[in-house]
Amino acid sequence: MTIDTLPAMLAPPAGRRPACSIRRMGGAESERVAKLQRIRLRMTGLSVVNTVVESVILALFALQGEAPWPRVLACAAVAVGSSLGFYVVVRRGWNLRWSDATLLLAQFNAGIAMQLAFMLVLPQLWFVFVLAILVTYVFGMVSFDSRRFTLAWLLIGAAVGVAFWLVRDRFAYPAVTPATLFVLWLTFVVALRQLTTIGVQFSALRAQLSEKNRQLSQSVARIEELARIDELTGVLNRRAFMEALDDEMRRAQRSAQRFSVALLDIDHFKAVNDRHGHQAGDEVLRQTCQAARACLRSTDRFARYGGEEFVLLLTPLNDSALAQIVSERVRQAIEQHRWPQGLPAVTVSVGVATVDADDTVERLIARADAALYRAKGEGRNRVVVHA
Ligand code: GH3
Ligand code: MG
Ligand code: MG
Repeated sequence: MTIDTLPAMLAPPAGRRPACSIRRMGGAESERVAKLQRIRLRMTGLSVVNTVVESVILALFALQGEAPWPRVLACAAVAVGSSLGFYVVVRRGWNLRWSDATLLLAQFNAGIAMQLAFMLVLPQLWFVFVLAILVTYVFGMVSFDSRRFTLAWLLIGAAVGVAFWLVRDRFAYPAVTPATLFVLWLTFVVALRQLTTIGVQFSALRAQLSEKNRQLSQSVARIEELARIDELTGVLNRRAFMEALDDEMRRAQRSAQRFSVALLDIDHFKAVNDRHGHQAGDEVLRQTCQAARACLRSTDRFARYGGEEFVLLLTPLNDSALAQIVSERVRQAIEQHRWPQGLPAVTVSVGVATVDADDTVERLIARADAALYRAKGEGRNRVVVHA
């Protein structure tokens, strides 16, 4: 019987692998293969134990006079010999040169074929072999898809039918004695234990899978968050802002609630770069954001619109005068910001526009931009509200 090989089966991808030895691989890869080999060795070792247990059960039936010793010994030799063969193959690393390094299909086929042969040799112990076939079949779960399972079901079903027919004259049941009942029960309990082993491994895999899923959702949430943030300044980026603006616009269209947009542009920022270098320019951008955010509420969305331009969504402000007040507060906060040593003080010009009935996002931004243009024209470092 070939059970307990689940983890080793699952890990490597199916498909042809190049002939290789562990020694020739790179560090991480060779470690992974070595770990898988260790699991496979443990599992094929367990498979040897299982065949020994099956042999003991056959021997117990022989002891009760339910089966002839020579046949029992022959079956035991074949069962233990074949599982030992797989063990040796893994131990020597020969499986690494084969297309299916897990040996799943080979062990599955060998297991089923062996139990069918045993059924022909010892038909009076047919239930032992039927149970063993069932256990091996459950093993198919590890890698079979539904097509292969259907095929296995039909083939094994037909093969067992043929085997039953071939031994129809020698079919028998054990005599009912306490000893045979005990061995029957033992056969069942051993099979149940083997199924339990598979079940336990599947439950461990389920736990691993749900942990992986949890990590994946965390990573996706983090990536989504990063995709909304401007890398340099840490404020929302233009994409996140435009999404928020779209939402706000839809809400405004449904209700009478209005909101405003303020476009901020750092004055003479090019000169900052020219005189102090690009890195100082970057720091000025970060400091500008800090100063602006410090005087805003958490519900006011402040974003980097691009370059040295920022944008502020002010909601809900029914009165454009209020938007002007908040914008003025931000402008002053930047003007009065305590700039770190070595950084030049900068100011911003601000253009404000409040949403109109049947406005669009583009029109609203264009009006804020026009107001900003006027603020620049009127001498900078000021707030202009679009009329
Ligand atoms: P104005 O007062 O008319 O706005 O003048 P300005 O110099 O601020 O405007 P202009 O558009 O001529 O220059 C903007 C500069 O901002 C030019 C560009 O190199 C700089 N800039 C844009 N993005 C970044 C950035 O991420 N880091 C730095 N350091 N500079 C940037
Ligand atoms: Mg600009
Ligand atoms: Mg500028």
